[in-house]
Amino acid sequence: MRKSKRLPPPPVSFSLLEVLPELALALRHGLRKHGYRELSDKLAELRIYGRCECGRPCGTFYCPSAEERQRLFRHGEWIDGDVFFVAQGRILEIQTLDKNVDAVLVELFPRLLSDD
Ligand SMILES: [Zn+2]
Repeated sequence: MRKSKRLPPPPVSFSLLEVLPELALALRHGLRKHGYRELSDKLAELRIYGRCECGRPCGTFYCPSAEERQRLFRHGEWIDGDVFFVAQGRILEIQTLDKNVDAVLVELFPRLLSDD
């Protein structure tokens, strides 16, 4: 039997800059102010692949695909006041407690609402 050539569908993701432009600008500003210029340049192309599933409004989201995040996770460290979880120059996770961010994430990832 031939191996199927069908690839799994690409994971759903959203551009940070498109869905949370104000946050993207604020994060960029913060990173630059604190000397993380290279990371700040990556925000424009950053995509959101998922969100924290703690169930509370927390506004925390994941940036690379789950696969990449898993691969890089053990190399990661929190920087810039525990806002960014970074590994090998990649932003893996952004932690905010912003209710407005949470509200946007709920719309982007509605599946989580029906899990209770
Ligand atoms: Zn959370």
